[in-house]
Amino acid sequence: MRTAALVLGLLLLPVLASAQQGAADLGARLMQDAGIKAALEAARADEARTIAEQVEICEVEAPPFKETRRGELYARKFRELGLQNVRIDKVGNVLGERPGTARRPHFVLAAHLDTVFPEGTPVKTTQEGTVIRGPGIGDDCRGLAVVLAVVRALKAGNIQTPGSITFVGNVGEEGLGDLRGVKYLFNEGLKGQVDRFVSIDGTGLGITHISVGSLRYRVTFKGPGGHSYGAFGLVNPIHALGRAMAAIGDFQVPNEPKTTFNVGRIGGGTSVNSIPFEAWMEVDMRSADAASLQSLDAKFHRAVDDAVAAENVRWSSRALTVDKALVGNRPAGRAPATSPIVQAAASVTRALGFPVTMDEGSTDANYPQSLGIPAITIDGGGRGRGAHALDESFDTTDSWKGTQRALLLAIALAQP
Ligand SMILES: [Zn+2]
Repeated sequence: MRTAALVLGLLLLPVLASAQQGAADLGARLMQDAGIKAALEAARADEARTIAEQVEICEVEAPPFKETRRGELYARKFRELGLQNVRIDKVGNVLGERPGTARRPHFVLAAHLDTVFPEGTPVKTTQEGTVIRGPGIGDDCRGLAVVLAVVRALKAGNIQTPGSITFVGNVGEEGLGDLRGVKYLFNEGLKGQVDRFVSIDGTGLGITHISVGSLRYRVTFKGPGGHSYGAFGLVNPIHALGRAMAAIGDFQVPNEPKTTFNVGRIGGGTSVNSIPFEAWMEVDMRSADAASLQSLDAKFHRAVDDAVAAENVRWSSRALTVDKALVGNRPAGRAPATSPIVQAAASVTRALGFPVTMDEGSTDANYPQSLGIPAITIDGGGRGRGAHALDESFDTTDSWKGTQRALLLAIALAQP
């Protein structure tokens, strides 16, 4: 998923001091290499195959928490491409290695296996002219296909990178998957071993370097419940919920960094003449700034606790209780515009003659960024519409540009 807002065209180059010059012209320097030229040419020439593979992957369903079948297909493709130590880890991530001259720097190029669509959703695609339709065709079958295309092109150009690259198809990017694939990679599977991380997610040619963090709660208020007339005087979970929502609705948040809150769903009660025994709400809070998100989170806890206390005081009771279950936690983070990884992405994009656009979003890069590991998300090329909708479409016009850019960036980030 990406909820990207276009932030700026790249205006940061003039501020680059000469110290950054190396990063700024990295793309152009790499493109003088004959092997890299051949690899880029192969990536373009092979685009029809990349698109065919995008369709093939997409027609194997990968509902949330059920990515296994698509993961097995992906592992098979990694093996066929000659990647080493191909494996499926404990949570379902698929990994394959391409050793460099040295182990480090170690660069990870990933795309997510999962979709937002439930099991049983028809995944057969259709094509009309340059437009392919199918749930997940852009998000993130495109990223998965581009990862494979990068491996193929590196082979075609016979490229030996100084650093090592691990290619990954990861689980759990969408919704309640809550980044569990990358969380496992960075906390366990590849803990302490990753120097740079790029996820290919989304269509177009943007570079997502600011990660919007989010916290999601399911809050459940509970009381004894009883008859609305006969048991009058009991604490009322729905009234407590109302008190909490009224407080949340009045929160003041900064416009910059954009910080948001939303009660998205509520429920509870059994009938008009019963004091409910339960009421619940689902709350979503977001910010691109970790401190702002934390302060909003503190306000939210206070609002809920105060509402419970007020309802108990109102009826001289202690019977009302609350459970605040954290159901989503994506940390905020950023790779600064002047950081080497963003400079490398801008540099290779420019060297290929493509426009450089910087986005913010919520992607797998959130997690490594929050750990201080250089990480960004790039688009995979083409033009997408209707991500997360059943009629999602992908226009393949010039989609090779995304493949070439991912390839050149992978080479750039496997340099010392
Ligand atoms: Zn996605």
